[in-house]
Amino acid sequence: MELKAQRGTRDILPNEASCFEFLERTARKIFAAYDYGEIRTPIFEATDLFVRGIGASTDIVSKEMYSFADRKGRSLTLRPEGTAPVVRAVIEHNLLKSNQAVKLFYIGPMFRYERPQYGRQRQFTQFGVEFFGVAEPTADAEVISLSNHFLKGIGFQNVTTTINTIGCETCRPKYNVALKGFLRQRQQKLCADCQHRAEVNPLRVFDCKQMDCKAELMHAPDMSDFMCKDCEHHFSTLVNFLRDFQVNVTVSRNLVRGFDYYTRTVFETSLSGLGAQDAVLGGGRYDNLIEELGGPPTPAVGVSFGIERIIVAMQKQHIAVPAEQDVMVFILAIDEEALALAGRLADLARHNTVRTRFDGILRSLKSGLRAADKAGAQHVVIIGKHELDQQQVIVKCLQSGKQQTMTIKECEAFLQGSAK
Ligand SMILES: [Zn+2]
Ligand SMILES: [Zn+2]
Repeated sequence: MELKAQRGTRDILPNEASCFEFLERTARKIFAAYDYGEIRTPIFEATDLFVRGIGASTDIVSKEMYSFADRKGRSLTLRPEGTAPVVRAVIEHNLLKSNQAVKLFYIGPMFRYERPQYGRQRQFTQFGVEFFGVAEPTADAEVISLSNHFLKGIGFQNVTTTINTIGCETCRPKYNVALKGFLRQRQQKLCADCQHRAEVNPLRVFDCKQMDCKAELMHAPDMSDFMCKDCEHHFSTLVNFLRDFQVNVTVSRNLVRGFDYYTRTVFETSLSGLGAQDAVLGGGRYDNLIEELGGPPTPAVGVSFGIERIIVAMQKQHIAVPAEQDVMVFILAIDEEALALAGRLADLARHNTVRTRFDGILRSLKSGLRAADKAGAQHVVIIGKHELDQQQVIVKCLQSGKQQTMTIKECEAFLQGSAK
């Protein structure tokens, strides 16, 4: 049988890996500017964490998780998202002290059993941040502003974030009752999924992608009519903060997001070039999750970024990864006797962290220069029998075409310093 990468997984080859590396570098710079510290949690967790954290009725838990029994029969799950594991970790390590902000970021692979599509894989990469300990809308504003900052740092322009509030435990139940009543009246016109959602978790009908359901929901009761004073104040303050931060926002009352843990603020950002359903980032406030998972009552807000989808949007919008700034030196031996010296010079250059290409093979001058050009080298150090006899080398600058003869000592100094 032919061995291949599994459906929904793929290999990232060096060319694309440099794009991931650029995104990670950009993210780390911005997360550091906002003073978030990195957390690395395990790839698998107890299945129960996600069932309790994300919610048994969500699509993720009911049909998308990679769960398996280990050799001792424990049910484990490859993490489908980053928030529940981070919450588990901050509780386990007692990081949450009252009245203290804790800010963390994570970077890593997540796993969901979905139908693979362009930019949507079963193993995918998420970056995310979680901000614990602050109930005020300043925290929501910071996380949304950081998200915008990240997309702008990559090179996206005209970024608009869609935000909504889904209320709190005081006001949401009243809205749910009204929404349930509305959905019952139109039951016949809804898809099977929505008929089920209407009973279990009515808010989730807004996640439905069926056009018929969407059309019906245009007439659904408006959340803002049911919002309590505190939620209303939280939301309007947030919108004002975001205007101060010059973040473009639009309010959409249909935005819900498919996790059970959100309270009040939810938001997401789509980029042109992707379908409207394809948000590249999403997040929200989750003030009850920490307590539900056994921690001290702690307000929190977070966001996660879908890195593969950001890469698709970069391609669609022709955003290139900034060119590698490093100078590259190509060491070329054109006679057997020169290989040892070539190897020694390559070693010296690498110890000085000069990017060096030396393949340990003999080439003719012509094919060597062609290979150096193809590799993107700026300088080629050419060593042949003749040069060796003279204890010299030739250093050619590929851009100007100029070449100079150097003694071996001069070349060493060049590779230690000026080649950079
Ligand atoms: Zn409320
Ligand atoms: Zn539906």
